[in-house]
Amino acid sequence: MTAAPVLIAGGGIAGLTLALTLHQVGVPFRVYEASREMKPLGVGINLQPHGVRELIDLGITEADLDGVGLPALEWALVGLNGCEVHAEPRGRAAGYHWPQYAVHRGQFHMMLYRKLLDRAGPECVVLGARVTGYSASAGGVLAQITRADGTMTQDEGALLIGADGIHSRIRAQMHPDQPPINWGGAVMWRGTVRAKPLRGASSFIGLGTHRQRMVIYPISPVGPDGTALINWIAEVTLDNSGGWPDDAWFKPVEVADFIDHFDRYRYDWLDVPAMLRAADCAYENPMIDRDPVPTWVDGPVALMGDAAHAMYPTGSNGASQAIVDARVIGAQMLAHGVTPQALAAYDAQLCGPVSQLVLRNRGAGPFGLLNLLDDRCGGVFDDIETVLPKAEREAFLMNYRSAAGFAMDTLNAAPPTIPPGARLT
Ligand SMILES: Cc1cc2nc3c(=O)[nH]c(=O)nc-3n(C[C@H](O)[C@H](O)[C@H](O)COP(=O)(O)OP(=O)(O)OC[C@H]3O[C@@H](n4cnc5c(N)ncnc54)[C@H](O)[C@@H]3O)c2cc1C
Repeated sequence: MTAAPVLIAGGGIAGLTLALTLHQVGVPFRVYEASREMKPLGVGINLQPHGVRELIDLGITEADLDGVGLPALEWALVGLNGCEVHAEPRGRAAGYHWPQYAVHRGQFHMMLYRKLLDRAGPECVVLGARVTGYSASAGGVLAQITRADGTMTQDEGALLIGADGIHSRIRAQMHPDQPPINWGGAVMWRGTVRAKPLRGASSFIGLGTHRQRMVIYPISPVGPDGTALINWIAEVTLDNSGGWPDDAWFKPVEVADFIDHFDRYRYDWLDVPAMLRAADCAYENPMIDRDPVPTWVDGPVALMGDAAHAMYPTGSNGASQAIVDARVIGAQMLAHGVTPQALAAYDAQLCGPVSQLVLRNRGAGPFGLLNLLDDRCGGVFDDIETVLPKAEREAFLMNYRSAAGFAMDTLNAAPPTIPPGARLT
């Protein structure tokens, strides 16, 4: 008799990485994705070294990642006066054994999708299939599925993993009293532009104040014309007392709708309004997350990725954490079998610390340095060392990396989450 599959609700970065992991360790699975078609959606995201390490252990090569992005070499904060607040190397340049990557989210997602279909066959992902709820069954769990044509089925699996994003139906059933989505007042406009990279060939730049800033980084290598595809995020914090008026996610907008906020962001090395006017796309996105819940598990059902821990992107680690979740679920299945005990062990390992990280990111994550700067000098400084000395800046960022699970020495010394060749027999 064939074992019942693990059912995965959602074929985003979390669900596909879990599917690739289960395929690697020999656990049958099926992915249900609500969209009728996989498309390369989104703009730039960062993959931190702990996430890249797991991808490489999954057989995704650096050449694969070079096809959808490029290694990030520097992280720099710049004040409103255009002067550097802090700069530090990233990835291998910082001493990690693995690179950090800046990638196009859509192209990265499609690369994972192609890898999965190549390895596990086209039937492993069911498109146009929304998981709307679950109930316990003798064999494990029944998932309620609504197909794009309106038909409804109940499919049985050994376990069900909710990788269905910030609006997760699985989470809503698991935690019916959860508060609505949290919006702290920040709005992000995101897009891409073809332009010359700033500072170096691959620098991540945060520019401005903690209430109004630009984030700019390339997500492709420089082409023959000297330009690269540059990801930009323009962010302002508004009065949030009325709540977020619209739950649209990635709503296309015109640059003219928000460019005025950045009118004074003009320097001899960068003209932000000119860069925004040349953008090839722009989307509006509230900076939202969810209050942590005490557990991500309900017997044979678990949450992962944004369904478990949607977080503000201030630390650039939402996608990396989704990848780590997948690998920890795989590792716990190797230890405990395809059982609720494996899910309980995953929950015990990650729910507490990652929930703390969600709250920490509300305090601006690494961009919290700009809050400190603002408190001390209103963001205006001549010599940064007299306001925010290097040792203090480095300690602040080190604390963040430790909390986010990618402190360099710890990561470099850690054994692989899933040992090479490990399979569930
Ligand atoms: C369209 C899109 C664009 C994005 N663009 C960016 C970006 O530019 N920059 C950035 O930093 N982050 C972006 N993100 C968020 C980022 O991808 C995630 O924060 C991170 O990768 C964690 O991914 P996830 O798989 O947990 O969630 P998601 O990426 O949200 O994936 C969830 C998946 O589940 C599917 N789904 C939802 N409900 C159900 C259901 N009930 N049943 C079955 N399937 C369901 C969704 O269609 C989606 O494919 C984007 C997300 C999406 C969905």
